[in-house]
Amino acid sequence: MKIRTGFGFDVHRLETGRPFFLGGVQIPHSHGALGHSDADVLIHALCDALLGAAGLGDIGIQFPDTDPAYKNIDSKILLSRVMDLLKAKNYRVGNVDATLVLEKPKISPYLTRMKETLTPILGIPYDDLSIKATTNEKMGFIGREEGVAAYAICLLESV
Ligand code: MG
Repeated sequence: MKIRTGFGFDVHRLETGRPFFLGGVQIPHSHGALGHSDADVLIHALCDALLGAAGLGDIGIQFPDTDPAYKNIDSKILLSRVMDLLKAKNYRVGNVDATLVLEKPKISPYLTRMKETLTPILGIPYDDLSIKATTNEKMGFIGREEGVAAYAICLLESV
């Protein structure tokens, strides 16, 4: 069996009055992420990890932000399309590990729902998706609550 690893990173600016989507779940908060799609930074990092592992470029290549088709699109749809691309190359996901970096709000109450939302799309058991969250210790743009970042790594297995 051939295995491949991939890494993804994404960052989005935070603005008042925007809905805040993380890991496919809407989080109640004063701020939300700004972007062409629904700006779900965790799903975007995840998509880039998966695309990278499969040698399929990145989310910007597959779903250009100049294309009006992707305006405000639910990032779960982008993740589903990434999975279709992987299936076409005979890959399945082994496991995924991700870290969110943001100051507020506390993410732990939402981690279960994020995993319940994303694992069916990824086609993996609940325990094969790990999502962690940390603050940036009040330093830099994340510390000033101007932005949110996410990192993800994944393992792909050839079917
Ligand atoms: Mg993004």
